[in-house]
Order: sequence, then structure tokens, then C-alpha cells
Amino acid sequence: MEKELINKKYNKNKIKVALFYPSIYSVAMSSLVFHKLYFLLNQLEEIYLERFYMPSLTGKPTPMRSFENGMPLKDFDYVIIPVHYELDYVNIVKALIGSNIEVYSSKRNRPKIIIGGPPITANPEPLADLADVEIIGDLEAVWQKLVDIIYSGKLDAGIGLYIPSLGKHEVRAAFSNSFDSLTKRILTNETTFSLGVEVMRGCPFNCVFCMESYISRPVRYKKSEDIVNEVIELNKRYNDRVSLIGLTVNSHPDFKKILKNIKEKNLNISLPSLRAELLDDDSIELIASLGQQTITIAPESSERIRFALGKEIKDDDIIKVSRYAYKYNLNIKAYFITSIPGETYDDLNSIVELIHKIKNIGVRKLHLSVNPLVIKPRTPLQWLPMSDEKTMKEKINYLKNNSYYDDFSSYDPLLALIQGSISLSDRDVLKYLIQIGLEGGNRASFRNAIKNGLSNIALKERSEPFPWDHIKDIIDSKYLKEKYMEFKEKIGLS
Ligand code: SF4
Repeated sequence: MEKELINKKYNKNKIKVALFYPSIYSVAMSSLVFHKLYFLLNQLEEIYLERFYMPSLTGKPTPMRSFENGMPLKDFDYVIIPVHYELDYVNIVKALIGSNIEVYSSKRNRPKIIIGGPPITANPEPLADLADVEIIGDLEAVWQKLVDIIYSGKLDAGIGLYIPSLGKHEVRAAFSNSFDSLTKRILTNETTFSLGVEVMRGCPFNCVFCMESYISRPVRYKKSEDIVNEVIELNKRYNDRVSLIGLTVNSHPDFKKILKNIKEKNLNISLPSLRAELLDDDSIELIASLGQQTITIAPESSERIRFALGKEIKDDDIIKVSRYAYKYNLNIKAYFITSIPGETYDDLNSIVELIHKIKNIGVRKLHLSVNPLVIKPRTPLQWLPMSDEKTMKEKINYLKNNSYYDDFSSYDPLLALIQGSISLSDRDVLKYLIQIGLEGGNRASFRNAIKNGLSNIALKERSEPFPWDHIKDIIDSKYLKEKYMEFKEKIGLS
């Protein structure tokens, strides 16, 4: 049962906008921008809005009907799609095919499709032949121009708005300096993250594999008073726990003050992964007192590789945090990445040793999440090949079989390879997405795409020009190259 919905009457003279999240309901409702778009679009008198979600993540394309009134997707004038994950591109294609909507924008008059999100900002080309408009940068920075496009139907390119049908033209990314507080959410029991409060954009650390930190620069922090007020307001309104959202929320200059102010109001909060070296006894005591059961950290790899990745955190800092977690009876969730170029089995053994040290401290519960490296555009690793699927699997299994832990999870190497391949590709990748979509978007369809050449791009070394080079003002490519050379030197690659 949902609450806080906006009930507008259907009127055929209004512009019909479909807000489509290309995943299942629970994932969509965990996306802050999905809630934001719902309320922002509904504020506009001239717009009639309905929501769409994928009925499931696998299966052949089927006709899409709106969540509210079962209206066909085909009947809408615009489809607005926020996307956070490259594999969801397949769901976009499936939704169009299942609804009998032409996939290629050059052959389609209606609906117009507008897509945005971090992977689009990094590289809009994989969906360039499908989308009518792609948002490059922050939604807030292009909002008014986007509304003008929806009202007028005129597809005007500009800062932050890429119109791929015009060919590969230069577009500058648009970033917003201000955060507006969003104190309304569609409330549902089906998701645990619907009450997210954004703390920051970007990250000051720029680890060499981390696309999100390079496409959202400079780092911007929301004012601590605004964060606390939003937490209080949301809690009052919905009587539920709020999650702080951001790439490294404990890099916020007022992190402790924010936690203290929330604690004074006797509220609980959830926190995402935190930078280990910035945590001390005080902050972990505060975190435990706010109802958090688990400290999530990301040691990523051995100390040698961690430093080469630009994450200059010593093993000792990770042990120190684990001791505090033990002291305050918290679980630890630790993220590791494997199959990094230059990684050896000595590095894997160092990871095993570190895990044993954490486990021996006696922490309540240790959850390991070991994931293969996915190489992404707009990062210093964009020149390097990804590992093949067999190597990724072997390394994950090595860590799984040689470490002590209470829970273990990992990301599927096949999906990692597909994700990297899509993210690094040019617009001709759409043909693979269509084929995968027609075959149901299951493992067999991904395997077929690999057989047909989809992963070639990810498995080889790459060189300029890159498919995304015409998108400007995101990150200086000279800077990326310098960081790439630095990484190679530190990791011992020729
Ligand atoms: S600290 Fe985390 S969020 Fe920041 S750049 Fe490194 S991996 Fe990305």
C-alpha cells in the first residue's frame, strides 16, 4: 500500500509522461531521483504522469502497462527514464519491444524518450540510437530546459542536454551547485531505502576504478543543518528510519556534528559504506548509538594494490576500525575487488591474511562481499583490459575458499563482463542489447552476446579516441592519463 501519492485526473489535453524505472518495483522505489522526478513532474499542471516498472528482470518482452491505471506505454508522449546500472539498458529495450514501440529514435515519432543517470553522463553512446534526449550531469542543472523540451516538443541541445540524433556533437556537462531538500517520498513497505537523504555529490578521493567519483566533480557537500532538518522532517512525516546517501558520507566536514544532532533527537539512521581511516572510537560509538548494526567498509584489496588504486588506507586502519566495531558490538561488512590488472596471488593471500585478522578480533559477524573489477569509462583504468570470466571466477573462489567469514557474497563475473562491455561501448552496442532483450535478458542470452563479440571491447586494451570524447567538462583526460601512468608504475605493469 502506497501513501503520499498525487492523484491528478486524466485529461486528454495534458502532456502524458511515463516515468519508467528500468528495473523491478523495489529497486525503483529505492532510487531517490525516482521519487524526486515523481513529485517534480507532478507539480507541473500541464503534465499527466504515470509510473512504469519492469514486471520481472528476466523473460521475453511483454507489453508494459502503467502502475497506476494500467495504461499502455505506447499511449504516452514522453518516457522519462532514470538509470543507474548498465544492465538495465536491456530492460529499456525490452519495455519498448514488448510495447510495440520502435527502439531506434530515427524511426520513431512518439513517444520521445529522455534518459539520464550516472552511466549516461559517463558515456551516453550505448543508448544514443534509442534516446531522443540524454541528460549529461545533474538533473537540477537542466530541469528548466527539460521542461521547455517537454512543453514545446522541440529537441534543443545545450549544456547538459545531448540530442544524439544530431550525430556526435560536443556537449558540456551541467552540474548543480545547490541541493534542494526533498522532504516528500512515495511511502511503501516494499523497500528499505525510500527515506534516503543525500549528504554529498562526488567524492574527494578519486580511486582509479571509481567512475562515480570522476563524473561528479567537484565534490559538493550539503549543509549539515539542511541534512539534519531533512532527516527530522522525514522521520516526523513517515515515522521511519532515514538513510544517509553519498559516496563517502563520513568525509563530510561536519559528519560527527550531523550524527550528534540526529542523536539528540533520539532518531535512528542507516549509513552506507564509510572510509575506514576517517573513523575513530567516537564516531563508531555514535554510529552504534544511532541504531546501526553493521559498519560497512571497503578495503578493496591488499595494502599494495589499495595504495595503487589511490585508496591510501593502511591495513592497520582497517584493523583499528574492526576493533572499534568489536567494542561496540557491531557487525562488519567488507567489500573487496578482485581481478585488478597487476594483481597476483600474493595480493590475494594478503587479503586472506587481513580477513583472518579481522575475524580473529571477534567481531559479531563478518560479511565479505568480493566482486570482480568492472572497468568503466571516465576512469584512469579506461585504457586497460578487464580479466576474462574464468580468471575472475577462480580468484573469487580462491578468496571464498581460503578465508574465514560468516557470510559471503559476490557479483557474477558474467554480469561484470557484460556490464563493463556495455559501459565502454559505442552506439553500435544497441544491436546486442536488442538481441539480449529479445532472448529474455537471461544468462543464456548474455552468453550468446559474448559469443557474438559483445565482450571484445572490455577484454582488450583501448586507446583514444573513446566513444565519449565529445562529451566535455566532465574530467580532464590529461589528468586521467597521468593517474593511469601512476597506477601502472605503482602496480608494476609495463
Ligand atoms: S573512496 Fe569510495 S566513493 Fe570515493 S573514490 Fe574511492 S571508491 Fe569511490
